[in-house]
Amino acid sequence: SSVFSAIEMAPRDPILGITEAFNADTNPAKINLGVGVYYDDNGKVPLLACVQKAEAILIEQAAPRTYLPIEGLATYDKAVQELVFGADSAVIQEKRAVTVQAIGGTGALKIGADFLQRFAPGAQVYISDPSWENHRALFESAGFKVNNYTYYDPSTAGVNFAGMLADLKAMPAGSVVLLHACCHNPTGADLDADQWGQIISVITANGLIPFLDMAYQGFGAGIAEDGAVVRRFADAGGPLLISNSFSKSFSLYGERVGALSVVASSAEEAARLLSQLKRVVRTNYSNPPVHGGKVVSTVLTTPELRQLWEDELAAMRVRIKEMRNAFVQKLKQKAPSKDFEFVNKQVGMFSYSGLTKAQVEALRAESIYAVDTGRICVAALNSKNIDKVVDAIAKVL
Ligand code: PMP
Repeated sequence: SSVFSAIEMAPRDPILGITEAFNADTNPAKINLGVGVYYDDNGKVPLLACVQKAEAILIEQAAPRTYLPIEGLATYDKAVQELVFGADSAVIQEKRAVTVQAIGGTGALKIGADFLQRFAPGAQVYISDPSWENHRALFESAGFKVNNYTYYDPSTAGVNFAGMLADLKAMPAGSVVLLHACCHNPTGADLDADQWGQIISVITANGLIPFLDMAYQGFGAGIAEDGAVVRRFADAGGPLLISNSFSKSFSLYGERVGALSVVASSAEEAARLLSQLKRVVRTNYSNPPVHGGKVVSTVLTTPELRQLWEDELAAMRVRIKEMRNAFVQKLKQKAPSKDFEFVNKQVGMFSYSGLTKAQVEALRAESIYAVDTGRICVAALNSKNIDKVVDAIAKVL
């Protein structure tokens, strides 16, 4: 027997498991609400026009594929900083923010986790209950103990804010608190501006390290509106880490474009942090890929393409909101005994629908696939499939 012969099968990814079952279903009318991807009204993943135009420019340039710097494309890192912090941000002007291009939002979280493990090795990490299913595994694999803080309140399908605040107050100084900047995945339940203010006060007063994960900027209230929370944290002073992703907002999932930004207390400290972030990147994959970063930086820095992107992102945001409302109104007709109005209050691509595991299983018999927790992807609903989904839900309630 070899060193490999005793290795056990790793647990299956719960979301990919749904996709496998969906793919195996031969019903042509099957609907997958288990995904984490935005679909347009025709049920297709869009290729944004701004991306196509940027790619045409890049093909025209026919640039050689040299290595990027370890921290990524300079124009990309600068454009990301301005998007995340706001172009007039004090942390940019004072050179206190450093940004490294990353392999999607996941890669950004991993760089951040490895960096924190090196410089805050004893820290505990806290994630929301529930959270994106990869958060725990990612920080555990970087060597951290990962705990939950209270977040979701099933009785309101919103945030248990008193519970969350109490848990934050009880965390030891130096703990890392992972927060979803907007469009909480999986629940769709976000904090309001006043609640964020209270969270920032506790984090600052108790010496906690905030790590904001922003995978859906522009899917909530708007690009600047969703980024406002990052600016408020930055104004409160460092330390602060932000991972952001363009997978959803540019519909560039497979290109793996994201970034990690870190706020330091001085320009001199920032330079030291950047040198250490580069070390993390260098020892993992040396330097990031070229294409996605060039597409995004071309769009963000070319005024017409930038406007086109903002319009296309707004259209995705509006369509999701329309689907939320159609879902609520249609269920009011078909299932008046249960109030789904909370779905209109939730934001982003997902909704904790309140469906139980048994109800999700019953939906599957109708070839409608959702996550066992009741999470549905509202962005997978469209004008053609929504009636079938609503009828099936009314039947299983
Ligand atoms: N954070 C959250 C909250 C997410 O939902 C996702 C993507 N589903 C990510 C990070 C990872 O983003 P990416 O696909 O760009 O790695």
